[in-house]
Amino acid sequence: MGLIPGRDVIRPALLFLGSSVVIWIIARLVTRNIVRSATFTTVFLAVLFSFNFSYNLGKSVIPWERSDFGVFWLLVSLAVATLSAWKKSSEPSPAYLNIFAGALGIMTLFSLASNALNSTSSKEPQDNLVARHRKVSFKPDVFYIIADGYGRSDQLKSKIGIDNSDFINGLRSRGFFVANANHSNYCQTELSICSSLNMNYLEEVLQNIPDKDLSRETLSNLIADNKVAQNFKSFGYKYIAITSGFPALRFSSADRWLQAHREINLLEETLIAQSPVNLSSDILRNSVEAKRYNLASAFRNLDEVAVQSSSPRFIFVHLLAPHPAFVYNSDGTFRVSEASGTLYDGSDYMEHGGTPESYRIGYAEQLKWLNKELLRTVDVIRKENNEAIIVLQGDHGSKVGLNQNSLTKTDIDECFSNLFAIKSPVKLPDIQKDSTTPVNIFRIIQSELFDLRMPLLRDRSYYSTWNDPFVYNDVTNQLSSSKDLANFGDVARKNR
Ligand SMILES: [Zn+2]
Repeated sequence: MGLIPGRDVIRPALLFLGSSVVIWIIARLVTRNIVRSATFTTVFLAVLFSFNFSYNLGKSVIPWERSDFGVFWLLVSLAVATLSAWKKSSEPSPAYLNIFAGALGIMTLFSLASNALNSTSSKEPQDNLVARHRKVSFKPDVFYIIADGYGRSDQLKSKIGIDNSDFINGLRSRGFFVANANHSNYCQTELSICSSLNMNYLEEVLQNIPDKDLSRETLSNLIADNKVAQNFKSFGYKYIAITSGFPALRFSSADRWLQAHREINLLEETLIAQSPVNLSSDILRNSVEAKRYNLASAFRNLDEVAVQSSSPRFIFVHLLAPHPAFVYNSDGTFRVSEASGTLYDGSDYMEHGGTPESYRIGYAEQLKWLNKELLRTVDVIRKENNEAIIVLQGDHGSKVGLNQNSLTKTDIDECFSNLFAIKSPVKLPDIQKDSTTPVNIFRIIQSELFDLRMPLLRDRSYYSTWNDPFVYNDVTNQLSSSKDLANFGDVARKNR
């Protein structure tokens, strides 16, 4: 319940009362008996809403899918309520209902207590992390916002032809550090995000997986259940993911995975999730509409989670923009995409109806729209949650000059030059460097927040073709303005 702001309780409470009355009226019509209908309603709702308790109790015996158990539990609730009402004489029996209410109260207390225990027990992180057992008292929310394909300003200027200084100045005036000469470690979405969320290079992250078992699916799984989130969770954080329709990013292992926005709040969604009602019906006609809808939804979801809650949260956000398809004009009006698919970038975009010129124009338009949304969102977070850490990052740069299957035909300066901006109430001197690459971002943040000693890794950049994602070509020294490797071997410095 730590995820739910108090004000969200009112509407579901009214809905709950309303639906109780409706159920009671129906039961009254069927049974034609006031006591039986009251018994039915009370027992039905009581059993139905002990779903979580029963599910948690029962899942060790039978490993049900949550949704299957939901259907089963709905039937159990109906059956138990019908039996109770059937057996009920027309004489009211307060003792019976009192015992029932008492049992409910105990279950609710038990549930609350176990929630409280779960959120306070902090397992020490495992692996090679050396915790120094400091009591961690300051636990700000941490937003990790990936804007897919968002390039570094100097490259955007020379390769796309946009002056992005208003946005960068807007970030700086809101307290962000923005790097000027940084690079990404990889230039494909899954490779980059898998590495940054696991705080290591893919050779290390994937070292125990035999080559024959390696696939993009492996990356998706390691993105969903990643090291950064595991560490946050071990320090009592909730893990929330917000996505905008990139199929490889699936966060079923997160505490909450918010996809397309729904016009109901978290508590309502939680309650409804316990029933067989399916909310994800496909109301979208085509992928361009879907992309617009998903992007707008991601921002609405971000606005909602911006509000601080009783538990600290790690909030991962993936925005499929400015990455093609280009579906928004700078003023927010809909844009018709030139390329035929919504996921094609670089040479794939060119092969599916796009041209370098349409890429530049479309990217610039969508970027300007995105910039406004990002600054607006940052302002919402600052207002609601001023102590939050916000990392705003491109997983790689723009790709007008990228060839998906040839390093020699690729403009590596463009695709490896990503946006990196961070706002933090905690001093993070190691991160405010132009050389910082994504692989080190959470090594630095978590070392500082949780007093861990995670060594910084050497900042390297690797190109992979689309067909051979696990063949890494080290291009670090070929990148212009590639930085010296002074970070190598350092340990995140402590500054307090
Ligand atoms: Zn990407």
